[in-house]
Amino acid sequence: MGRAFVYVILGGGVAAGYAALEFTKKGVSPGELCIISDETVPPYERPALSKGYLLPEAPARLPSFHTCVGANEERLTPKWYKEHGIELILGTRVKSVDVRRKTLLTAVGETISYKILIIATGARALKLEEFGVSGSDAENVCYLRDLADANRVVDVMQSCASGNAVVIGGGYIGMECAASLVTNRINVTMVFPEVHCMARLFTPKIASYYEGYYNSKGVRFVKGTVLSSFEIDPIGKITAVNLRDGSQLPADMVVVGIGIRPNTSLFEGQLTLEKGGIKVNGRMQTSNTSVYAVGDVAAFPVKLFGETRRLEHVDSARKTAKHAVAAIMEPEKTDEFDYLPFFYSRVFTFSWQFYGDNAGEVVHFGDYSGNTIGAYWVSKGHLVGSFLEGGTKEEYEALAKTTRLKPAIDDITELERQGLGFALTVSKKPLTSPPTDVSDSTLVLERPLFAWHATAGVIMAASIAAFAYWYGKRRRRW
Ligand SMILES: Cc1cc2nc3c(=O)[nH]c(=O)nc-3n(C[C@H](O)[C@H](O)[C@H](O)COP(=O)(O)OP(=O)(O)OC[C@H]3O[C@@H](n4cnc5c(N)ncnc54)[C@H](O)[C@@H]3O)c2cc1C
Repeated sequence: MGRAFVYVILGGGVAAGYAALEFTKKGVSPGELCIISDETVPPYERPALSKGYLLPEAPARLPSFHTCVGANEERLTPKWYKEHGIELILGTRVKSVDVRRKTLLTAVGETISYKILIIATGARALKLEEFGVSGSDAENVCYLRDLADANRVVDVMQSCASGNAVVIGGGYIGMECAASLVTNRINVTMVFPEVHCMARLFTPKIASYYEGYYNSKGVRFVKGTVLSSFEIDPIGKITAVNLRDGSQLPADMVVVGIGIRPNTSLFEGQLTLEKGGIKVNGRMQTSNTSVYAVGDVAAFPVKLFGETRRLEHVDSARKTAKHAVAAIMEPEKTDEFDYLPFFYSRVFTFSWQFYGDNAGEVVHFGDYSGNTIGAYWVSKGHLVGSFLEGGTKEEYEALAKTTRLKPAIDDITELERQGLGFALTVSKKPLTSPPTDVSDSTLVLERPLFAWHATAGVIMAASIAAFAYWYGKRRRRW
């Protein structure tokens, strides 16, 4: 026994929500679309889990952050799915898929068939056991990937008021959780093997800017070492963390953020995989023409850099999902996906955005003792990446547009001198592709707090004028 749908979305996370909204915009009929998810709630904005969800006061709770509020679009509640005739099969794990027969088998034994499948299975948090450390099942060890994990973090946090937390990992999850724990008056020590936080993206100078602030909030960093084991009491609670460098940290709770692994296992041997994900073309179509993949699990061609990439960020989940649906519903009107990689984070009162690629030589700009800092990355004579903390909406838009244009840079010193003014000037040039929408990152739930500076406008205006003259001369020379 089983059900049949024209379109099935496997996975009920960010990408699934944005795909559902796009299906309705493109005229899907009631009864044609179904979403199968092992989570028990409809799609929600996952980034809220490490931000608004962990606030000590007025924390964000569902239904307030169902997709697609993160992009300032409609909030898709259970009622919305019902009204649009979209079947939500929640709390249901798919345990196998047969792409040749176009069927899925759920853990409760139902076979569901499809004409078109969209894989939106996202990723799972890597476990300590995968690195040879046991203890993940202790009641005061937390991961953070889904709502159940977030509820556990809240419960454990509340049970160890003013206690000690050890955060394992210095990436996104570690940094955002550490900030939330401190805000909840918990003493935090972060442990990671790299020389600075956010090592995959930040330069040492950017990292030191944030680490300085974290230090001022009481966060301690233990770098260049890793967790080797836990001290566990007779009732199964972690009491201390042993590090490979021989030191020991007391712990009332442990939060682990050591990376993720895309959920591809159902498709291994059936679809082409690349970069740890499911390989798709510029229409998000996999090696099987009836199967599409979107979000964290998809490895897609990034035209701007001429290579296949798999991104683990919310903006690409939203946009790959929309693109796949457009390619399915309006194939003749849909071009190849042309995406500018975009990530952001918010911690304490900070808010940064990054565009493009962090490859090549770095040029820092801004006031690293103040509130607005930035960096450009220049590779093979072109600006390929940009980072800005504390910018305005217009400044972020200028950065996105400039990065997409990949302007030629033959004078790094001049770029450094111009700083943000460079992007503000270059971005005024006409653009052929649509600019990256940066408005979606103003999610109220995540409490954005942009730093505004009264003097910046004046300084900027002067530097823009000077730069416009310089750049105009250069353009004529080029
Ligand atoms: C706490 C947190 C904070 C984040 N903050 C940021 C941020 O600030 N900025 C940023 O750019 N990105 C951030 N991200 C990353 C962002 O949330 C992800 O890139 C995004 O959620 C990916 O969307 P997705 O739909 O591909 O996967 P997901 O949102 O993970 O959804 C995958 C879904 O598939 C389901 N699923 C998987 N396998 C099966 C199966 N076999 N059967 C049924 N269901 C299945 C899962 O349960 C889940 O519902 C954050 C992520 C987390 C966890």
